[in-house]
Amino acid sequence: MIYDVVIIGGGPAGYTAALYCVRSGLSVLVLEKLSPGGQMAATSVIDNYPGFEEGIEGFDLGQKMKACADRFGAKTLLGEVFSVDLKSDIKKIESSEGGFEAKTVIIATGASPRKLGLPEEESLGGRGVAYCATCDGMFFKGKTVAVIGGGNSAVEDALYLSKLCKKVYLIHRRNELRAASVYKPALEKAEHIEIVWNSVVKNILHGGTVTGITVEDTVSGKTSDIACDGVFVAVGRIPNTAFLKGALETDTNGYIAADETTQTSIPGVFAAGDVRTKPLRQIVNACADGACASKFAEEYISVHG
Ligand SMILES: Cc1cc2nc3c(=O)[nH]c(=O)nc-3n(C[C@H](O)[C@H](O)[C@H](O)COP(=O)(O)OP(=O)(O)OC[C@H]3O[C@@H](n4cnc5c(N)ncnc54)[C@H](O)[C@@H]3O)c2cc1C
Repeated sequence: MIYDVVIIGGGPAGYTAALYCVRSGLSVLVLEKLSPGGQMAATSVIDNYPGFEEGIEGFDLGQKMKACADRFGAKTLLGEVFSVDLKSDIKKIESSEGGFEAKTVIIATGASPRKLGLPEEESLGGRGVAYCATCDGMFFKGKTVAVIGGGNSAVEDALYLSKLCKKVYLIHRRNELRAASVYKPALEKAEHIEIVWNSVVKNILHGGTVTGITVEDTVSGKTSDIACDGVFVAVGRIPNTAFLKGALETDTNGYIAADETTQTSIPGVFAAGDVRTKPLRQIVNACADGACASKFAEEYISVHG
């Protein structure tokens, strides 16, 4: 069978694309390597996805999005995509569940936050360690947090959190920030931000939830503890594009080059959600991308057959 659309990745972008595609009469296969919901599946409460006034568990929202697409006939297979051949009119997708063919492909494989690689970092996720200030900042209102990193994201996170938190430490391993100079005036004005220069985090302190961090001065080698309630890791994100093996144009950070239309460098191939170049990576705009991708996939099929 040749599917109208194969969607790689079953997060919010993937399932919104699936919902829109099946509702417009296209045959749809979603290939998801782990569990439906994507990053949401590992997130506790989501408060900023409109429509749920009490918030909603990330796992439940993922299941609901899948159920919406299932209702109109989208098919999901749990399988990892290893490689793709996107050049021909009929696109070929190789996965752990076998090979598939499609007229169009929507890539919605998301991005993963780069970790610090510290012991217990993983297990403290949701208990003080966070990777998204816009998502989790509210949980630290009135508290003290440390932001780790020195690029644009780290500075943006520190500025965002300084409006909510009592105190924000910005921990940076060098003696100057990599962030664009445009942030400098705002940083200088922000009363609650203290930059801790030449410092790397060696350990996360906790008693069930985060209580602080141990940092090492990269110049003197001395270590010291900083008390805080939360640690926001902002040392970059890795787009999940390894399986593409360079098949599509990307930006310098590896995100698939695509604008609001989600159209990539290859006709009939679309990139939706966190995996594409964009200024904000959230559920609501991942969903918006999914809807857009479906519109252009449908248009492509109606022109090319
Ligand atoms: C801890 C945390 C908390 C967050 N909280 C919020 C929040 O409160 N509000 C908010 O709006 N946003 C939040 N976000 C961000 C939000 O989750 C993402 O912006 C959103 O999930 C992106 O959706 P997506 O569909 O593009 O990608 P993802 O959700 O990353 O989904 C991609 C899917 O593709 C699958 N996949 C990857 N590679 C392959 C492959 N080769 N083959 C098959 N499948 C593959 C993955 O398993 C995954 O399920 C949070 C993120 C994190 C990490």
